[in-house]
Amino acid sequence: MEYVEHVVDLVGNTPLVKLGSVADGLAPLVLAKVEYLNPGGSVKDRIALRMVEAAEASGELRPGGTIVEPTSGNTGVGLALVAQRRGYKCVFVCPDKVSEDKRNVLKAYGAEVVVCPTAVAPEHPDSYYNVSDRLVREIPGAWKPNQYANPENPASHYHSTGPELWRQTEGRITHFVAGIGTGGTISGTGRYLREISGGKVRIVGADPEGSVYSGGTGRPYLVEGVGEDFWPTTYDREICDEIIAVSDKDSFEMTRRLAREEGLLVGGSCGMAAVAALRVAERCGPDDVVVVLLPDGGRGYMSKVFNDQWMASYGFLSPDHSGASVGDVL
Ligand code: PMP
Repeated sequence: MEYVEHVVDLVGNTPLVKLGSVADGLAPLVLAKVEYLNPGGSVKDRIALRMVEAAEASGELRPGGTIVEPTSGNTGVGLALVAQRRGYKCVFVCPDKVSEDKRNVLKAYGAEVVVCPTAVAPEHPDSYYNVSDRLVREIPGAWKPNQYANPENPASHYHSTGPELWRQTEGRITHFVAGIGTGGTISGTGRYLREISGGKVRIVGADPEGSVYSGGTGRPYLVEGVGEDFWPTTYDREICDEIIAVSDKDSFEMTRRLAREEGLLVGGSCGMAAVAALRVAERCGPDDVVVVLLPDGGRGYMSKVFNDQWMASYGFLSPDHSGASVGDVL
C-alpha cells in the first residue's frame, strides 16, 4: 500500500513544470516550481514545518502550547496544518480588511482568528502588531514564529527548495527567479544554489513596482504576498544578482495567461515572478535553464485577478485577455 501517515508528510518535493506558450520563441528551457501542490496550497508550508520543529527543539514551543502569529494567509494555513498534527493551538491575528473567506479557511483548519481594525496606527494598542504581542504575553505557553525575523524561514528553503531544484534539474539550473516578501524563499534557495554551483546560478528577485527591494518607497501596489515597505531580517541583501520590478498590470495579465494557457491557476505573485523570469529568458541561450518559483494557487484570488470587473476597475484588462467568452454580454 502506498500512503503517508499525515498530509503534513507531503510538504515539499513539488514538481517542475515546463512553461510552454508563455515562453514561446525563447531559447532556454523555462521551468516553474509549482508550490501550490504543497498540502496547504503554498510555499509557506515549508517554513511552517521547519519553524515549528526548531521551536520544539529549542524548547520555545512545548506540548500543548499555542502558536500566535499575525498572518491572514498562506503562513497561517501552513502553521495551522502543522499545529493540528502536533497538538498545538493556533491564534492568528489579522486586520479587518482581510476577507471573511480567508479567515474562514484558517478557522476550518481549527485556528482561532482575532480581527483587528486596519484604520489604526501601528503603535495603537489595537493594532495588528500590538495585539499579537499582547496575546503572546498573556497566553501561557504561547510562541510567535515571526516569519519576518525567524532564521528558520530562509533555512527551510536552504534545506528543501534549493536541494530539490539542484536534484530535479540535475545541476543544470542556470537562473533562479522568485518574488520577495519576507525574502525567505530567495535568500535560502539562492544561497544553496550559489554554494552548490560555485556561484554559477544567477539569482534574480522579482518585486512589485513601488516596493523597497527594487528601490521604491513602499508606495502601494496590488500584488499580494510580495514587496515590502521595510527590510526584514529574513532577506539577505547580498543574495540577488539582479532585481526586476514588475507592474501590477503585467503581473495580473501574466497570472491570467498562466491559468488560461498553461493550466496553472496561480496567485498574482506567480504572474509577477513569471514576467521577471521571461524577461531573464529573453537574454538567455539554449543551454540555459531558468526556474521560476510559483508560491501559491489562484483560488484565493477569484474576486480579484480572476474577476473581470475588478480587473477593469483598475484598467488592467486589455481586449485580448478580457476573459470574455462566446455569449457574454459585454
Ligand atoms: N507570494 C506569496 C503569495 C506569498 O504569500 C509570499 C510570502 N509572503 C511570497 C510570494 C514571498 O515569499 P517569501 O516571503 O519567502 O519572500
